[in-house]
Amino acid sequence: MTLPTHLLNTHLPLGDQRTGRFYGKDILSVSQFSRDDLEYIFGVAEAMRTMVAHIGTFDLLKGKILANLFYEPSTRTSSSFLAAMERLGGSVIPINEVRYSSVTKGESLTDTVRTLECYADVIVLRHPETGSAAIAANAARKPIINAGDGIGEHPTQALLDLFTIREELGSIDGLTVTMLGDLKYGRTVHSLAKLLALYRVKVNYVSPEILRMPPELVAQLRKRGLPQTEHTTLDAVLPETDVLYVTRVQKERFENMEEYESVKGSYIITAETMKRAKPNFVLMHPLPRVGEISPEVDDDPRAAYFRQMEYGLYVRMALLAMVLGKA
Ligand code: ASP
Repeated sequence: MTLPTHLLNTHLPLGDQRTGRFYGKDILSVSQFSRDDLEYIFGVAEAMRTMVAHIGTFDLLKGKILANLFYEPSTRTSSSFLAAMERLGGSVIPINEVRYSSVTKGESLTDTVRTLECYADVIVLRHPETGSAAIAANAARKPIINAGDGIGEHPTQALLDLFTIREELGSIDGLTVTMLGDLKYGRTVHSLAKLLALYRVKVNYVSPEILRMPPELVAQLRKRGLPQTEHTTLDAVLPETDVLYVTRVQKERFENMEEYESVKGSYIITAETMKRAKPNFVLMHPLPRVGEISPEVDDDPRAAYFRQMEYGLYVRMALLAMVLGKA
């Protein structure tokens, strides 16, 4: 593919760099990243954004194959990894429905992963058990990218969340981020809080009593110097909030459905909530939403959740290029 001259001259951090810091690495937890790593990833994601805007699809990963292995439902994560690989000229083995694979015959996760790495160069894995991505990575020779392991982590989501904040507000230091909803079972907030601890930010947690952020995580982040406060209502912290990160109550994680029913509609963001928020704040949600944000809010320019999905494409393109040694 011949690139337009103005793109060739912009020093995009793309090309064959098999000595790059992420070449051949697994992406399992946000704990593996330094602030410097994040800047590097975001730089590559910016380059991907430019390339997609100018030429749409290009051949950086031509000949490479991704296995997309999803043991849990997914719309955005699976399709954005698929789109990312295709925009980079690679191809995908999609296993979105393990029901139709040998998993139903009782095949273990490690055997499935060892099988797929015979055909693919990288594996994206979503699995209901915390720690499953690490188990798969131990068994595999090829890079494993954790696309959500139960209530554990969702590192690629947290990277795209942080990229969204940076793109929307210009910087991360100095912000107040409020996380709202199911902070106990929501893996996206677990990963995002860990990443935010690398910056000078304040974090507020707003949740029903039974869905509080895991105390061990709060204690761990306190030790790392992250200022955190906990609340059961949004009112007190809304006026100081720069980023409101809303989450869905994770129905599938509850053992007791009565408990779920008692908290499911706890918070709803409406046009009235937006009136009380800062003029330049951003409203985010990893999606899917199931009633936490009223659709009347969608046209407010501060509602960033649809743009957030698009940023996810660029971040996932960056990650694929990096682990495959092309960025
Ligand atoms: N899509 C996100 C996840 O996989 C958020 C959610 O499902 O609520 O964790």
